[in-house]
Amino acid sequence: MNESLEIAELGNPVLREPAKPIKVIDNKIVELSGNMITTLRKAGGVGIAAPQVYESLQMFIIDSKPNERYPDAPEYGTMTVINPKIISSSEETNYFWEGCLSIPGIRGFVPRPTEIEVEFTDLNNKVVKLILKDFTSRIFQHEFDHLNGIVFLDRIESNKDIMTEKEYLRSITSNNRQHKWE
Ligand SMILES: [Zn+2]
Repeated sequence: MNESLEIAELGNPVLREPAKPIKVIDNKIVELSGNMITTLRKAGGVGIAAPQVYESLQMFIIDSKPNERYPDAPEYGTMTVINPKIISSSEETNYFWEGCLSIPGIRGFVPRPTEIEVEFTDLNNKVVKLILKDFTSRIFQHEFDHLNGIVFLDRIESNKDIMTEKEYLRSITSNNRQHKWE
């Protein structure tokens, strides 16, 4: 039975440390993955990294689908990513108002490469190579940053690119759809 874990918030050192590679995918890792998925869904996120649940390990979950916090997120399915590498990134970048479960109530307008080529190990110990675009590419990069002690606030270009989640959600549910994904 999976349980929902406590989420580390900005200021906790675990979010600022490089995470350790996972050597063996044992039952503990499988259980942690299940608990992270439960935690993520309960919190209304689209991704969560192990350091965000106080585990300094190179693992994260991507679980993209529309929810209250990300009404325009695409359906992608759930993926457990272990020991990831970003092999290449597109020169083209785009911007999106990102949020983070460890920085509640805040959004930042973050530039990131649109497309990335990645390699990681899955829960079945298989090496997976993928090309990710747009929203899923962005989630991957955001979670990958967590494994290196980086949060999205480190990537914004100006303090003016910060807004509260309340005002962000107001802006996308009014007629002003300029921040809509795409
Ligand atoms: Zn985050």
